[in-house]
Parts: sequence; structure tokens; C-alpha cells
Amino acid sequence: MSDSPKLGPDTLLSQDDLFQFTCHGGLECFTNCCRDVTIFLTPYDVLRMKRGLGISSGELLDRYALVSQTHAIPLVLLKMNEEDDKRCHLVTKEGCSIYEDRPWACRMYPLDLGDDGGYKLAVEEARCKGLGQGEPLRVRRYLEKQGTKPFVEAEQEYARLTSDPRLGQLDVENPQVFKMIFMATYNLDAFRKFVFESSFLERFQLEPGRVEAVRASDEELLRLGYDWLAFGLFGQMNFQIYEQAAQAVEAKGTTTGGTVLGGGGNGAGGGRGNGSGSGSAPGTN
Ligand code: SF4
Ligand code: SF4
Repeated sequence: MSDSPKLGPDTLLSQDDLFQFTCHGGLECFTNCCRDVTIFLTPYDVLRMKRGLGISSGELLDRYALVSQTHAIPLVLLKMNEEDDKRCHLVTKEGCSIYEDRPWACRMYPLDLGDDGGYKLAVEEARCKGLGQGEPLRVRRYLEKQGTKPFVEAEQEYARLTSDPRLGQLDVENPQVFKMIFMATYNLDAFRKFVFESSFLERFQLEPGRVEAVRASDEELLRLGYDWLAFGLFGQMNFQIYEQAAQAVEAKGTTTGGTVLGGGGNGAGGGRGNGSGSGSAPGTN
């Protein structure tokens, strides 16, 4: 596809394709797309949102998320405000109040991930008045402007867990196990406390400099969480265990945190969908 064509719901776009889209406060649909929308949050979305709001991950999840515990890997949705016409709690008349730290799916809008690494429209032109407006833009350039790169990279790291076929063979019956997985992926402030205020660092030997990197950065903490879970769930040796701890683990026949991790799994990559066909990040371009 070399020119900007008329797009339909089944059109698959590559990063080199052109499309036309512009969003601004003068459009009649402005902020409609932040109402009654299904947005899956990734762990990195939660990290960015809590940073943008200046609150803890626990507060963020309590106030703004719905969590499903039916799979080993948590499904986390952005909560809509039932008392305000199902609007996102974070939308204002001026647009998204956490624009710089908005979730991945909101950045991509009105595009969504398609099959085979392509992209598709998440909404019809009739609902998103910005579609078909403005200068033609390559999908690649649009995504760059929306700052999706760190979200894509973070998702690739998360996929080490979510795409592992062994995840589907596990069976999480122990709520404590779900709690640990949830903590190390989504509730980072609780995981930080666990790493630095429990015997974690007496059991796991991190490579030189990593402890300080984790102390200084939530992104590094999230990576540690993935490594720890990959160790606990799949036995991947991402770091050494101190000998004494290894003996204790062997004696118990257990791995992470002294708990046998099991569970049926399901990945929760970012995504946006909606019964009414709306959804967006107002002011995204
Ligand atoms: S992204 Fe939302 S606000 Fe912007 S043009 Fe589309 S529907 Fe309207
Ligand atoms: S872009 Fe809209 S739906 Fe997404 S977080 Fe912001 S206000 Fe909520």
C-alpha cells in the first residue's frame, strides 16, 4: 500500500503504510473515546501511570484498575467510572490528565495491533472524526510520535513469561501464588518492599550493580520481577541462589519465596476494545 487509502475495519496496515488522522479539542467526538472502553493494562502501563499520578502501584490498582484472578498471569483492566457515564476516571474536558504516561493502547489509538505484527483500525471513521483528516502519515512515524517504543520493548520482556508454553500447563490453585505473580508484575511498590525488606537478597545473588540499579529504577525492578517469576515458574536460572537458601529450597522441594508456583496462564498484552466501538487518547497527535 503506497498511498493513504480509505481504511476499513479489516484493513491490515504495516509500519510503512500511510494513514490520515488528527485529533484535537475542536472535534465533536473529543474525549468520547475515553468512555465505556475496554483497555487491558500491561505491567509497564501501570508503572507509567503510577509515576504520572505520583501514587503507589497499590493505590493505582485500587483506584483505577479491575483485576481478574482467573489466570496465572493477571488480567488487568482500566476501570471506568460507573457514576459518570462510564467515563475513564482520568479524562478531563481538556483530554487525558496523564497524557505523558497514558497506557500503550491509548497511545496507539485509533490503531490497534493486528495479526502477524500488523496494525488495524480500532474504530470506524464515523465514530472517530479525526480519521481521514490531516496529512498522510506513515504508521511507523505515528507510533514514534506517540512514544510507543518503551511500551513495545517492555511487552517483549513480559512475553518471556506470557508466551512460555509451560504457563498453560500450570495450575494456580493457591491464591498465594497468584498474589506473588501479581506483586512482581503489577504491584511494583509491594515487590520493592519484598525485595528490600524481606530475606530476598540473602537468598538470591544478583550480579554486581544490579541491586543498586533495582533500587534506583522501577524499570529494573520490573525486570527483576520477570526474572524471579521465570525462575519460580519455569526454573530459569536468571541468578544464583545462595547455597544455604538452595539447601532450604531443596529440602522443601520449593522454589520462589518458599512457595511452589503453579498456574493456568494467559497473557495480558495491552489492547483496547469497546462494545460501542469508541476508544482513544484525545489529543494524541
Ligand atoms: S481519538 Fe477520540 S477524540 Fe480523537 S478524533 Fe478519535 S474519537 Fe475523537
Ligand atoms: S487516554 Fe483516555 S482512556 Fe486512556 S487513560 Fe487517558 S483518559 Fe483514560
